[in-house]
Amino acid sequence: MAIKYIDEADLKGKKVIARFDFNVPLDSHHQITDTTRIDESLPTIRYILEKGASKLIMMSHLGRPKAGKFAKEFSLEPVAKYLASKLEQEIVLSESSVDSGVKSLLTLNETKIVLLENIRFHKEETDNDLEFAKKLASYADIYVNDAFGTSHREHASVYGITKYFEKKSYGGFLLKREVEALSKIMNSPKKPFVTIIGGSKISDKIKTLEYFITHADKVLVGGAMSYPFLAAKNIKVGKSRCAKEDVEFAKKALAQDVGKKILLPVDHLVSEQLDGKPIICNEVTIPDNLIGLDIGPKSIELYTNEIKKAKTVFWNGPMGLFENPNFSKGTFAIARAMADIKSQAYTVVGGGDSVSAVNSSGLADQMSHISTGGGASLELIEEGDLPGLFALKFGPKN
Ligand code: ADP
Ligand code: MG
Repeated sequence: MAIKYIDEADLKGKKVIARFDFNVPLDSHHQITDTTRIDESLPTIRYILEKGASKLIMMSHLGRPKAGKFAKEFSLEPVAKYLASKLEQEIVLSESSVDSGVKSLLTLNETKIVLLENIRFHKEETDNDLEFAKKLASYADIYVNDAFGTSHREHASVYGITKYFEKKSYGGFLLKREVEALSKIMNSPKKPFVTIIGGSKISDKIKTLEYFITHADKVLVGGAMSYPFLAAKNIKVGKSRCAKEDVEFAKKALAQDVGKKILLPVDHLVSEQLDGKPIICNEVTIPDNLIGLDIGPKSIELYTNEIKKAKTVFWNGPMGLFENPNFSKGTFAIARAMADIKSQAYTVVGGGDSVSAVNSSGLADQMSHISTGGGASLELIEEGDLPGLFALKFGPKN
């Protein structure tokens, strides 16, 4: 069974409750510093309104408020203001997601769009409390989930709520875009399928690594992920980040037959300190007093050549401490290599820091797909499904 998307729904005269991911970054003055997540929700919001829904009730979380309590700094007020200016319509921000005020608000003719206050002010949200979900469901005839980035959570507003919308649960356009793009990675990707994995720790990404090693033709390893692999081959990595348990994992991975797919850096950029000046380490062994902070020029060439041959590329995790411009070369070179094959290959970037790296490389528009999902996109690839997607099709399991 496939997910039904909102373009299959009859919305005319219907009350629609929709879950979005408006979890935007705010500065100390409570101003939104990056509106991307809201902007990406606009097509779904506009569609619901244009198709004649009588009411639109929107839900989202923002940050990680202490459960069960209102806190001004996590209020969705700036989101309500921004949405009102974008849509040129009044948006009523409810005091709470589930007080009696919401129902009376909805009886008013002039109230068309309601934004429920931060759904995580109620601990019932993260507890997936079904009474809470039922109350939310009582506001509307149709449910829409466009919060792909939250769909790996079994939370009331993405999971439990679908129990009360049998055959009336739909995916939004952002969710659709993510699912379709990631399906191309998951379901018989065109070969050669090259994956690139980097970032800070193997233990954070064991499942992703295992998936890559099993399904891809090549796994290019960079960033702090690479040092445990080198250590597993008895290569010295100096003071680079390298946890013992990660070395154990790396040993096992390399010992498998599929371990041959793994490519490791052959040189590095190193330094005496994290903010020290970059030094090229021409060989694979890193001297005792130095820290590996980026892949080196020969590794860039090696990896670029592999990417050139690919028909499908999935990238998660920066190749170095890219936040420091001294150590961003490797990461940006991967983005460049992917951009260069855009006419011949399907290229996807997923992961919070990887996406911000691609954005700062200026090459984001050259990728086939950039996943907004972070944890959700990796989990979808590894598991083949997500709780929020499953629930759209079948409802919650219990
Ligand atoms: P993503 O969010 O894309 O999944 P991760 O969170 O796993 O990526 O990793 C990103 C972080 O890893 C970045 O903050 C980056 O600075 C760090 N990192 C990458 N390589 C190194 C390195 N060699 N030493 C220390 N930190 C590194
Ligand atoms: Mg990260």
